[in-house]
Amino acid sequence: MTVDVNKETLGFQSEVKQLLDLMIHSLYSNREIFLRELISNASDACDKLRFAALSDDGLFEGDADLNVTVDFDKKNKTITIRDNGIGMSREEVIDNIGTIAKSGTREFFNAMTGDTKKDSQLIGQFGVGFYSAFIVAESVTLTTRKAGLSEDEGVRWESEGQGEYTIQSVKRKQRGTEIVLHLRKDAVEYLDGFKIRGLIRKYSDHLNLPIMMLKESHDDKEKDKKTVEYETVNSAKALWARLRKDISDEEYNEFYKHIGHDYEDPMARVHSQVEGKLEYTTLFYIPNHAPFDLWDRNHPHGVKLYVRRVFIMDDAEQLIPPYLRFVRGIVDTNDLPLNVSREILQHNKVIDKIRSASVKKVLGMIEKLAKGDDYDKFWKEFGKVLKEGIIDDSNNQDQIARLLRFSSTHDDSEEQKVSLQDYVSRMQEGQSKIYYIVAERFATAKNSPHLEVFRKKGIEVLLLTDQVDEWLVNHLTEFEGKPLQGVTKGELDLGDLDETENKEETEKQSGEYKDLIERLEKLLEDRVKDVRITHRLTTSPACLVADEHDMGANLERILKAAGQEVPTSKRIMEINPDHPILKRLKDEKDDNRFNDWGQILFDQALLSEGGKLDDPAGFVHRLNEMFMEISR
Ligand code: ADP
Ligand code: MG
Repeated sequence: MTVDVNKETLGFQSEVKQLLDLMIHSLYSNREIFLRELISNASDACDKLRFAALSDDGLFEGDADLNVTVDFDKKNKTITIRDNGIGMSREEVIDNIGTIAKSGTREFFNAMTGDTKKDSQLIGQFGVGFYSAFIVAESVTLTTRKAGLSEDEGVRWESEGQGEYTIQSVKRKQRGTEIVLHLRKDAVEYLDGFKIRGLIRKYSDHLNLPIMMLKESHDDKEKDKKTVEYETVNSAKALWARLRKDISDEEYNEFYKHIGHDYEDPMARVHSQVEGKLEYTTLFYIPNHAPFDLWDRNHPHGVKLYVRRVFIMDDAEQLIPPYLRFVRGIVDTNDLPLNVSREILQHNKVIDKIRSASVKKVLGMIEKLAKGDDYDKFWKEFGKVLKEGIIDDSNNQDQIARLLRFSSTHDDSEEQKVSLQDYVSRMQEGQSKIYYIVAERFATAKNSPHLEVFRKKGIEVLLLTDQVDEWLVNHLTEFEGKPLQGVTKGELDLGDLDETENKEETEKQSGEYKDLIERLEKLLEDRVKDVRITHRLTTSPACLVADEHDMGANLERILKAAGQEVPTSKRIMEINPDHPILKRLKDEKDDNRFNDWGQILFDQALLSEGGKLDDPAGFVHRLNEMFMEISR
């Protein structure tokens, strides 16, 4: 009987309410998935208990037969899902069911537009879980007791999904969780044994745990009889332990949704069963969507570890490196002890071997994707993360480099579609380097004055605009023997692509422009390291480049934005001797005017590469002076 101590009415975290509304709207046409989600949670709860009991088998309380039962009651219009898994304490109920404890939740909700149609697609990034119960239920009663706690520490949680829930302590003999769904009028179709059995087989067959229902002859009406007998409805065998040829796509996909906490099918999968000195099975998936918290490098890694079919832990970060953190799946091995801990995993030869084989498997799966039509989508969702692999995983750098995609001057779209192989195959005769520019934005990169000579000569330049790119090019110094070369650093070096006349011309002009260069150097003493003639410009009068070994402007900006103290290194100003402004400036006798123009030249070079002026008002003032002079 209920002991009515401290029954409390609490409000949902505001996000929960939003999530509920969104979910009911977006999943209505696919609402049968509530059963999958609740059974998936029940199965997780049993896995957790099985693992906890490895070190304390008292937790089983004499009942180690873990299972889930599903009952329905036509008269009262309820469906009940019951497990004898780990259960929850009062605090855990509040934390897990009343709040969304995932990091990045707020950002996720900020991304919502209020346009339900658009927002519905966001649900895929969030996962639906427990709250999907409210798509079919007008109220939900959850009663639970945590394994190991006393009978008095049961908890009852009730809600109509309208912003509030009540929670109270109850007496509960049975450990684990029972969820009663009081169905909405329009959901009574689920009060049907045949239908529920079908849903269990469709969605939960792969679970490594029996899901039981009353024997068919007992359905509903005979439930009152004392002779109730349950039977197992699913095949209750770990999916990954079955032969690949015996597993259908649907089964693979349903298994993914369970372990990935996703409601969409995955984009790709790879399943391998390894026998030999080490025996293990891996099954990895790539989701169809990036989860909303992918950007958090500490975000849980989605690979579960099993030992001999027994669940050991979630998010085993030792199993997959951070740059593959979007992968979901399982590793099951016979070669670890059941009582393995996270600490042990850290320095374990078996795990190291499985991990490096797993990385190969996953990269192989991505390689396969790269040959198909879905790669653009993959790259959009996960490319930025994969790029971290160039930095983190030097052993596999060559293979990862082949998977990279970039924007380029030879591709009109802003999307990253050009591979390094594409680039190399288009290199011009005499070209020995792979040229790239890194900038904050696509338009800044694409229209940068540094590209003018490349455009004139038809040489392709990769346009790099992701944050991680600065680090990428630091670590990826060559591809297939071709060095990568930034175009905003050091002297323009086109190798054999440069015509000899150009070099002679430069020398001659350097002589002619000697005075101008000296005057500019003096004027801009505090702002530039050097002024020199260049042939990299065709239409712009000037641009800035970093000295070969200095930090580039973009990296400097990123580091400063991240709050790091970095010295500002002076840049080199390169001037275009063929530009009318410079021709004119060469003969300028008026010192004031020369000073103004010289400063403007520097400032506009800085602006055109996306830089920030130290004294924008001064720039505007000088520019206006010039306009007025012209119009005078
Ligand atoms: P997810 O399964 O992705 O974590 P859910 O919304 O499905 O999200 O569940 C939220 C949390 O509630 C779970 O992580 C778990 O801690 C808890 N929970 C839900 N159902 C159960 C259950 N049957 N037994 C124990 N804990 C549960
Ligand atoms: Mg869940």
